[in-house]
Amino acid sequence: MKYLSIFGAFLVVVACSSESNYKVEELDEVLVCQSKTAESYHRENCSALKQCSHEVAVIKIDEAKTAGRKPCGRCY
Ligand SMILES: [Zn+2]
Repeated sequence: MKYLSIFGAFLVVVACSSESNYKVEELDEVLVCQSKTAESYHRENCSALKQCSHEVAVIKIDEAKTAGRKPCGRCY
């Protein structure tokens, strides 16, 4: 039974971390879609990110600019 409760706790941790995946916690962080054709960076909850079929990453805005990303027309 001990094994089961450890497994349950593990599931809770996984669920929480996947939920906070798209969370921007620092003011200088932005969200990017890791598609090769994506050219923009976004604020949290941008509708354009819902169309992203790839992973969404949280990166520093400076990194986004260095990578050639531009502010999204919808959320910026
Ligand atoms: Zn956007």
